[in-house]
Amino acid sequence: MKYLKFKSSNEQVPIGKLVCVGRNYAAHVKELGNEVPEFPIIFLKPASNVIYSGESIVHPTYSNELHHEVELVLYIGETVKNANNEQAENAIQGYTVGLDMTLRDLQMEFKKKGDPWTLAKCFDTAAVLSDVVLKKDYSLRGDENISLMVNGITKQNSSIKNMIFSPVEIVKYISAKMTLEKGDLIFTGTPEGVSKVVPGDKIEAEIENIGKIKTQVIK
Ligand code: MG
Repeated sequence: MKYLKFKSSNEQVPIGKLVCVGRNYAAHVKELGNEVPEFPIIFLKPASNVIYSGESIVHPTYSNELHHEVELVLYIGETVKNANNEQAENAIQGYTVGLDMTLRDLQMEFKKKGDPWTLAKCFDTAAVLSDVVLKKDYSLRGDENISLMVNGITKQNSSIKNMIFSPVEIVKYISAKMTLEKGDLIFTGTPEGVSKVVPGDKIEAEIENIGKIKTQVIK
């Protein structure tokens, strides 16, 4: 079982489900040749995929195209179902930085065939997290910078204001379909600039005032 790490709390919270939003930044939708969605596109990752900043991403042997995706991650701190705006806002009790590591070659193949993306998104070390910043310690402005470097070269650099669906809209949408519980995490999508990484690459990701991830890809 995996537990969350908090910046300012020693509370032991087991990680629940990781609910991820696809195509939530218009420029990223375009770079992968997709259409801007009418509703958030949702997929899941298991908690067992999680590693923390400082640990290493193990490159699966069955893929030749492992991509980084830096994302704002919402920490759900209470049970919520069919949330209205206020309930959605209250359920979001913290934020962290996440990497939604993706096997792009497998994803493209699955999309072509109309098969589920699961194995392109779910593998050990596919979700990297930094420590959770509680909302009581920092309230999101909504225009924080989000960026990622590979070997010191900037690959992704945007603002969370460029999200198509806001955190509250995302929580409302998901909670109308499935109950969200304390310990669940929501990955809110990645900006443009996703690219391939290989064993030996060092990744640094940051969201202004939220946190940083340092990790590397290994065989
Ligand atoms: Mg993603």
